[in-house]
Amino acid sequence: MADSRAAEGGAQGAEVDVVVVGAGFSGLYLLHKLRGLGLRVRVLEAADDVGGTWYWNRYPGARCDIPTTDYTFSFDPDLETAWTWSEKYATQPEILRYAQFVAERYDLRRDIDFNTRVEAAHWDAAANQWRIRTSTDASLSARFCIMASGCLSVPKAPEITGASRFQGDVYFTSRWPHQGVDFTGQRVAVIGTGSSGIQSIPLIAEQAAQLTVFQRTPNYSIPAGNGPVAPARRAPLEADRAGYRQAAKLSRAGVPNEPTQIYGRYSQPALQAERFEAAWQTGELIPILGVFADQILFPDSNAIVAGKVREKIRAVVQDPETAELLCPKDHHIGTKRPCLDTGYYQTFNRPNVRLVDLRTRPIASITETGIDLADETMAFDAIVYATGFDAMTGAIVAVDITGRDGITLKQKWAAGPITYLGLMSAGFPNFFTITGPGSPSVLSNMMVSIEQHVDWVSDCLVRLRADGLTTIEPTPAAEAAWMVHSNDCAAITLFPSADSWYMGANVPGKPRVFLPYVGGVDAYRKACDDVAVRGDLGLHRSGPAGERCNDGVVRQLQPDVGMVLDMLAAMNLPTFNSMSAEAARAFMDQLSAARPPGPAVGETLDGTLPGASPGSGPLNYRLYRPATPGPHPVVVYFHGGGWVLGSHDSDDPLCRDLCRRSGCLIVSVDYRHAPEARFPAAADDGSAAVRWVSAHLADLGGAPGPVAVAGWSAGANVAAVTCQQLRDNGGPAIAGQLLLTPVTDCDMATPSYQDNAEGYVLTAPLMQWFWDHYADPADRAHPKASPLRAASLANLPPACIVTCQFDPLRDEGVAYAKALAAAGNRVQHIPARGHTHTSLTMVDVVVSGEPVRAEMAAALHGFFQRVAVAA
Ligand SMILES: Cc1cc2nc3c(=O)[nH]c(=O)nc-3n(C[C@H](O)[C@H](O)[C@H](O)COP(=O)(O)OP(=O)(O)OC[C@H]3O[C@@H](n4cnc5c(N)ncnc54)[C@H](O)[C@@H]3O)c2cc1C
Repeated sequence: MADSRAAEGGAQGAEVDVVVVGAGFSGLYLLHKLRGLGLRVRVLEAADDVGGTWYWNRYPGARCDIPTTDYTFSFDPDLETAWTWSEKYATQPEILRYAQFVAERYDLRRDIDFNTRVEAAHWDAAANQWRIRTSTDASLSARFCIMASGCLSVPKAPEITGASRFQGDVYFTSRWPHQGVDFTGQRVAVIGTGSSGIQSIPLIAEQAAQLTVFQRTPNYSIPAGNGPVAPARRAPLEADRAGYRQAAKLSRAGVPNEPTQIYGRYSQPALQAERFEAAWQTGELIPILGVFADQILFPDSNAIVAGKVREKIRAVVQDPETAELLCPKDHHIGTKRPCLDTGYYQTFNRPNVRLVDLRTRPIASITETGIDLADETMAFDAIVYATGFDAMTGAIVAVDITGRDGITLKQKWAAGPITYLGLMSAGFPNFFTITGPGSPSVLSNMMVSIEQHVDWVSDCLVRLRADGLTTIEPTPAAEAAWMVHSNDCAAITLFPSADSWYMGANVPGKPRVFLPYVGGVDAYRKACDDVAVRGDLGLHRSGPAGERCNDGVVRQLQPDVGMVLDMLAAMNLPTFNSMSAEAARAFMDQLSAARPPGPAVGETLDGTLPGASPGSGPLNYRLYRPATPGPHPVVVYFHGGGWVLGSHDSDDPLCRDLCRRSGCLIVSVDYRHAPEARFPAAADDGSAAVRWVSAHLADLGGAPGPVAVAGWSAGANVAAVTCQQLRDNGGPAIAGQLLLTPVTDCDMATPSYQDNAEGYVLTAPLMQWFWDHYADPADRAHPKASPLRAASLANLPPACIVTCQFDPLRDEGVAYAKALAAAGNRVQHIPARGHTHTSLTMVDVVVSGEPVRAEMAAALHGFFQRVAVAA
């Protein structure tokens, strides 16, 4: 039920098409854009002027930390040329002047109510209107309500005992007095060393008689190297302004940047140092966050960069104890917003500056005259709080937003924000958030993200109007799937490991969820565009022209799988099935050479063993021995490649990974290939190899006892068939079978074949090509080719079967798991959500495969544990 005061209309009781909350850059561009569509728009702003962030944050040293060349509107080419930034990183006054310039240029102020805080917005379902109530007791009705209320606009209250007792001057960096502050001769405390603290501390230190900095968490900061924009940095923009802006839109973080393919964990120290130093010299955050391709994925790679930043800090700060306190060690670089500074670390060499580490010396209380620690009383004339914001959700849930059926957004978001694309929330019709949680927002150049959101919302309203519809909201299924996707993106990075404001960790009681979308500005834009192009996918729309619900999910692939597929599509590679077997093998070798090598193991040894056909010569194998003390249980592994392609080289990273994680010795065997050796050569070689390995365990340095078998794709077919053959032909016993996306049947008419016939690397035509090379149609139903068709599936070794959602072979893997279980075998089935036939083998590239590979390794480990227990 809508609040009566809000619903009945107040003094003005005006009705508009759109109410926009906030007159920062988001609100300004919204107003301009929506006005252009002929909509009646009213912007409500708590401050007495435009600018948002740059209106409120007037502390000394306040600047942007994305180069101003990039942190600027691009929607109007004439605006771009009408304004010139004076510095690489403009100051707050200059950015505020820019916001004012924009407001004047487009005559925006006439539609903005200043000094007006929105307190409530209630959806009136009967009237299809939002009823808005403000601090001025005005009320307003609008068909659409858009929160442009800022990601970092609600300061976090300091939770320090006695804060209200202090009789001296108190300042918040985010609510700085407009007339400025003169600290000359004063004893000043600054609490907080996030970006605002790091920017303001050097300037406050220059004025104050004494400055004491209270630090809870040291941050990584790099010198901004501010000054006029370097000609080399300006050149690409000046050469092709439109192209430069387009590149920003299609970049990962909203600033044109060519991401590296170099992995820190596999690069040499000299290259590591060279890349770090080059990034450091740019004085920009994006290069320092992208020194290596795997920097935000793996702790060891991240540690290289973090360690080098710490070296820089130690080189500047003269007192070693202070230097150590300033060195961040509790989080990976980039998992909290890193800072840019001008002389921050040098400030701690000044005689009037000292650092207090709150981790070891917490504040006992703030008193009338200063700050008490357990062992020291300090007197201050002024305290500056640089304690950050209730980020991303604070300003939205501060408003009493009530949607359909009286549900408030605060209730809905009690365990963390739930949005579709960070733009909308189910149950809240005609309600949008600009740079809301679930969108790239604070992980990007926000000007690019703001423009993208405003453009998307206005296009959405245009479509709605064109279709004769008046209300829009996401479906619960689409929204839930977006949250899954957004969480998938975060889960493959190191971000969730830090107690950051990205995680809501700085606000007591705030749910710990990763708030922004970390998949990148480029991937995000593509998802939003897909939603529009695919007929407003995941959106329920209604109005005079009827009801249209296009329920569906825009992203189901794991994010890194999607990236790999996009990359492959962009490369426009020839298909294997368009080549001869020989050419396809050479091409596969070429692809294998370009990937990360996979983790180190204790030892690898190449050797040969006799195959099933003495006449065709020995089979190559590669042995992987764990670094741990042996002897280790032994696994015989068969590579993938459709019985035609592949070798121990092609599956080398996967074998390394399995060896390392499982603690098993892996013997990866090259069985004979078709078409030179057709069915049942591969299957027969499988049995021969397992017999030979089982008989030579001591020679190989393996533990006595039964071996396990494992394989991927056609190799998993060989492994499954081998288990059946050895069961029927006198052994040896097998401890277990690990089958990754196995070929178990020749039926190519399953739903998974139909749904995933194209687009996921292993295509239906390629599988047809494999079958044609391997076996005559008459042989394909034989259990040595289609193990699912064995007369009996009883008494087989315990199995772990992994199937992937977007794999033509998914259904036959599922069927084999079910059939094995029905026949009384122990079976673990791992359905890998969002994965393809090939993605789980992409060690160090598809990080989302790690949990599945960990389960696979645990299954191997488990096979041998069960054998040991049984013995
Ligand atoms: C110190 C600082 C430096 C930053 N530097 C960068 C940078 O270099 N690069 C970058 O990309 N981003 C930076 N940001 C992020 C910055 O917030 C965005 O770049 C951008 O300015 C956000 O614009 P906005 O209009 O979305 O929100 P804001 O600028 O925050 O504006 C929101 C407005 O909404 C108003 N408001 C909120 N709630 C209500 C309500 N209930 N009723 C009425 N009005 C309301 C607020 O008063 C505010 O004016 C920085 C942020 C801070 C705090």
